[in-house]
Amino acid sequence: MSQHQTRAQRLTMPLAREVVRELAVTNGGCVRPVQLRRTDTETGQVEQVLVPCGHTLASVCPSCAERTKTLRAVQCREGWHLDHEPIVQADEPDEVQRMWVEKRAETQAERDHAEAAGQDTAEADALNSELDEEITRSGVRGKVMPATTARRHRSTRRRQDAPDLPRRTIAGTTVGKTYTAPDGKTFRPSMFVTLTCPSYGRVLQDGTPADPAAYDYQRAARDALHFAALFDRFIQNLRRFLGYDVQYFAAIEPQRRLAPHVHIATRGTFSRAELRQVLAATYHQVWWPPATDVKYPDGELPVWHEASGNYLAPATGELLPTWDQALDAIGEDGEPLHVAKFGAKFDAQGVLAGSRDASRCIGYLTKYLTKHLGDCHQAESGAQHDHAERLVQALRYEPCSPRCANWLRYGIQPKNPRPGLRPGYCKGKAHRREHLGHAGRRVLVSRKWSGKTLADHRADRKAWLLATLGIPDADPARYTWEPVTPGHPDHMPPAQRMLHIVADRQRWHAALTEARRRANAPPNLSATAA
Ligand SMILES: [Zn+2]
Ligand SMILES: [Zn+2]
Repeated sequence: MSQHQTRAQRLTMPLAREVVRELAVTNGGCVRPVQLRRTDTETGQVEQVLVPCGHTLASVCPSCAERTKTLRAVQCREGWHLDHEPIVQADEPDEVQRMWVEKRAETQAERDHAEAAGQDTAEADALNSELDEEITRSGVRGKVMPATTARRHRSTRRRQDAPDLPRRTIAGTTVGKTYTAPDGKTFRPSMFVTLTCPSYGRVLQDGTPADPAAYDYQRAARDALHFAALFDRFIQNLRRFLGYDVQYFAAIEPQRRLAPHVHIATRGTFSRAELRQVLAATYHQVWWPPATDVKYPDGELPVWHEASGNYLAPATGELLPTWDQALDAIGEDGEPLHVAKFGAKFDAQGVLAGSRDASRCIGYLTKYLTKHLGDCHQAESGAQHDHAERLVQALRYEPCSPRCANWLRYGIQPKNPRPGLRPGYCKGKAHRREHLGHAGRRVLVSRKWSGKTLADHRADRKAWLLATLGIPDADPARYTWEPVTPGHPDHMPPAQRMLHIVADRQRWHAALTEARRRANAPPNLSATAA
């Protein structure tokens, strides 16, 4: 085109990069693939392989998030009405998993070396935690390093009162009861349960409080912070009460009033009366020091004392009590900081395998998984915006964990104190607007649900694809893998990687369509065509 274009005309043209990204997304391709170098140990051939990022948020990578959501639905469906005990056995680690753990070992050594030499380890620590995430994402369970080194002996756990429930020994079985209808047909129903938080004040249709001044934001914030622990207690109690190893697939989501609730698919059934009994006996006590009276407001914050590694009172220079001292001070007749309980309202229904109800419930369970909690219900009115803002404010100074910087505000040193802690600016995820107080995992799946991890379900999907396309699955032991870092001559910039992804996806789609066409074609027709 030789014709002159104005700047305004040029601005209306789609941006090349955006077009590539959109193409990648419409083709189901990852928009931020990781580049790995694969070496064939038999032939010595080196190949660049682009591995999907595997992110679960649609705002980061729509394709990977959608794929994970689909896999979650498959996992949920497979485990829900299982009629045999799943075999749970740890697999041998694969090459990619080994590679990440090896990398992790290297950086740990470098980090410890730096520490011994008195150098800053912040960067190495950050790299280590990124590698930990990669290790988890590659389908490895647990962490390579324990999260805490010293464990406090005086357990706060013993102070959890025993639930007021008849206790049965838990049988090793995970499969629910089978019922036989009068016509001899057997069926094995399962349950779909929704548990909510209690009321913090009356709310209107749009989820905002009728009287914002009377709405208990502090309780709402604390319930959200401890929601996952409460869910754990509920499962323990349910298992004890029913006497078998109940399996679940649960998803934590926000209600319109922005309080978390949980949808739970359980294998096997129980009655509403039984559920009510378990719920009435289920609560979680948070045995933390009191966090009610503000001792050091912003502007009069405790100061860090480098030599002793402690925080001191700003005016007197006195040592603030340490985390352990503050815990000990609670005393035998002290009160927990918070007692979390589910609300009295719940929903429970029996669901039969393969029914339309089952599909509908799986839809609920996976509906919001590609979004942050705080993005599930976008504020559309001023009232909704203000409600969200007040909750975020309540979460801002609420301690999220024993290490939370907010403890300084209440005159207590957080566990493992370090310089630079500032109340109201804790880095804990729970305080962030997009998490609404729940920083933990959104999907909670018990170990013996389908007997498979998400990585197993992903491998199933891959095996199916390879079989459909008639490609033999290569022996994984044949290859070694390495990450390709920027600066290496083979390294592809993001734009180039995305172009490759688009081309790959299109090739796969064409091959898959062709394979399907061949599979569906009547045999005589293909015979005449040949
Ligand atoms: Zn991706
Ligand atoms: Zn915090």
